[in-house]
Amino acid sequence: MEGWTTAEEDALAALAGTVPPAEIAGVLGRSVGAVRVKASRMGVSLRYRQGPVWCDGCATWRTEVDADGLCPVCRMRERVAAHRERYAEAVAKADMEAVKEREREELARETRAANRWKKRVQRAREQTGSNPRKPPTGGKRPPAAG
Ligand SMILES: [Zn+2]
Repeated sequence: MEGWTTAEEDALAALAGTVPPAEIAGVLGRSVGAVRVKASRMGVSLRYRQGPVWCDGCATWRTEVDADGLCPVCRMRERVAAHRERYAEAVAKADMEAVKEREREELARETRAANRWKKRVQRAREQTGSNPRKPPTGGKRPPAAG
């Protein structure tokens, strides 16, 4: 492949300096040496120096951005944010479990107290015969209070 078509020359001129020489060679299906010679003859510089790229995420010049326009730092920040969110959810769930546990314990304590007092009332009524549900046999039901 000696001769260069105008289309190939145009492509070389367009790609020169925007991508590494090896990539231009790959695109044109020629050796890097051939591309260098041709570029030199055309007076085109192949010097490729990747400049910093702008990251919209952090409004900073970075070495690279991904397809979403985010730099490595921004991608890492997103991961941190995701972890923090999951942590908050986990903690909230753990808090709920603690609240439930405290409630269960207090409920059990109050239930025991209620049962104790219920028994005391029963015993007191048995001793005094003042169970309102069981009026003393033969007697009259006591008048309603109030
Ligand atoms: Zn960024």
